[in-house]
Amino acid sequence: MRDHIIYQNGDIMKFSITDMVRQQVEKAFEVIDIPDYVEEILKSPNLCLKVTFPVMMDSGKVKIFTGFRCQYDHALGPTKGGVRYHPDVSEEEVVALAAWMTWKCALVDLPYGGAKGGVICDPLTLSERELERITRRYTTAIMPILGPHIDIPAPDVFTTSKTMAWMMDTFSMFKGYTEPAIVTGKPEVLGGSLGRKQATGRGVAIATRELYKKLGKSLKGATVAIQGFGNVGSYAAFFLEEMGAEIVGASDSTCGFIDKKGLPVDELMVCTEKHKCLEKFDKLKPCNRDEVLYEDVDILIPAALENQIRKDNVDKIKADIISEGANGPTTPGADEVLEKRGVYVIPDVLANSGGVIVSHLEWAQALSGLRWEEEEINTRLEKRIVSTFDKVWQKAQEKKVSLRTAAYVVAIEHIAEVYSYRGVFP
Ligand code: NAD
Repeated sequence: MRDHIIYQNGDIMKFSITDMVRQQVEKAFEVIDIPDYVEEILKSPNLCLKVTFPVMMDSGKVKIFTGFRCQYDHALGPTKGGVRYHPDVSEEEVVALAAWMTWKCALVDLPYGGAKGGVICDPLTLSERELERITRRYTTAIMPILGPHIDIPAPDVFTTSKTMAWMMDTFSMFKGYTEPAIVTGKPEVLGGSLGRKQATGRGVAIATRELYKKLGKSLKGATVAIQGFGNVGSYAAFFLEEMGAEIVGASDSTCGFIDKKGLPVDELMVCTEKHKCLEKFDKLKPCNRDEVLYEDVDILIPAALENQIRKDNVDKIKADIISEGANGPTTPGADEVLEKRGVYVIPDVLANSGGVIVSHLEWAQALSGLRWEEEEINTRLEKRIVSTFDKVWQKAQEKKVSLRTAAYVVAIEHIAEVYSYRGVFP
């Protein structure tokens, strides 16, 4: 297995996403009551396609690339998930990420199974023309398993709305008609949904507010630290501030800022929009980015990368509530420590589900040919997060488990119920 667990002084330092997903789901299987055959079905993907294709590089040389597309489970509907371009992409990782998407879609009650795709490449060394050719050849190679009612890709690590435009155009050229429902995360002019850019951060803020409500507390004056002031983190900060919270810490890969009186979120957003990083912000004295993670706050939003809260640093985390904007920021070992300490962790599959919820709305708009106002999108997003949070909260109380395990239980029970009606073909 690539990227094994790395031990340092007897402590687990880093988890592969594959191990993380497996351990999380195994915990849910321990407390769940579903037929054995469903558990067996959900242990392996329905389909994983590996493709190898040649691409003409700008130099005139031909290079061979390898890509994957995994469709994890088809019970709920067509599969949905991003495509990532990264040197570390592997079949194993794509399968684990597709499983993660399966639980996320089932949890928020979308009519989708989970999928994920990727191409092994280093986008930072490729020109735009090369990226376009890679995208078009990759799309062509996986086309037999794509379709608006089969499998619908979206952007992920190092792929963007432009990548989705190329995928949509390639698919449409082969079909002979324009098919906007084949991808989500498109540019707005091609049918991308209003509100998609803000959706994940908005969802993080709503989920956090719902937890506060359940605890009988108000967000007014609650202090927040944000690790990763990118798309998810900056909008989570923006909406939490709008709800009355005080953003006192923010970091990105370049530096951090802490101000107990409250940070100027709007100005930081303008800075990152313009310069792509926080270190160009010269109105405050920067600190080391990790100080933000360990700041004494009420709420911590890890919104950067996976493996940020681990067994080796979990004791430095002071927040009482962690709302996972990023995918997989907390390792299973750290999760156990936090649970024992009584820290509430709103799991990624719930906290950052706003993105896929609005992607579903983008797909529904493309299929219907309608275009909804942003207000309509935001209202639907909010209702979905609130109702899902409620289900997870109830399940956690009923089973006496963490919010993460409860979220997995809700998701897997939903899939099991679908199997109970659909049966096993033939
Ligand atoms: P992004 O690239 O816009 O932002 C990531 C931010 O994290 C950047 O500001 C980067 O500088 C910062 N960062 C990287 N390493 C850091 C470190 N060690 N300490 C502090 N900051 C660090 O990406 P994004 O779209 O905001 O995604 C962030 C996370 O959320 C990822 O895990 C992604 O998979 C997940 N996610 C994103 C969406 C979405 O809609 N964008 C949806 C679901 C999940």
